[in-house]
Amino acid sequence: MTDIVDPVTRSRMMAAIRGKDTKPEMVVRRYLHSAGLRYVLHDCTLPGKPDLVFPGRRLAVFVHGCFWHRHPGCRYATTPATRREFWEKKFAANVGRDRRTADALEAAGWTVITVWECETRSSQFLERLAQAVRHVPVAGRTRPKQPAARQPRRRQYSPPSSASNPGKARISLEAASGPTSGK
Ligand SMILES: [Zn+2]
Repeated sequence: MTDIVDPVTRSRMMAAIRGKDTKPEMVVRRYLHSAGLRYVLHDCTLPGKPDLVFPGRRLAVFVHGCFWHRHPGCRYATTPATRREFWEKKFAANVGRDRRTADALEAAGWTVITVWECETRSSQFLERLAQAVRHVPVAGRTRPKQPAARQPRRRQYSPPSSASNPGKARISLEAASGPTSGK
């Protein structure tokens, strides 16, 4: 059965019929959010403006349409029969840009996950994705807050409380410089 419209138009029509909330990116966002994961959207300071960014994990997630971004081996990555050269050039540009974006992010220490549109229809895939996100460690949040700050308290010396809120650095400084001869 031949389609009366080209794949792009068809894709747009289908998207309109399904409604905005079933767009692959929305599906991913909703799932990860309900899984308790928090992210930033479309961080334009990063290469490629990733769809979802997990700053603490240095993780960027892209949700790609199979047609435009050429999901390898996917049945949705068709090539229109007419204006073939035009399409192939366009696809090559998209794929090249995606690869350069991922390279740039990884070179800067980011982890990149690419989610394909067709995958977002599977709840099993979405659960695996959530696990993959959790698997990327959050950097710099494992240490308890300033564990050494309490040590100076062992001294009986109490700092003047006239200052509204003496800083911890000041307390330790005074304790170090003060005389240690008992009473
Ligand atoms: Zn696909």
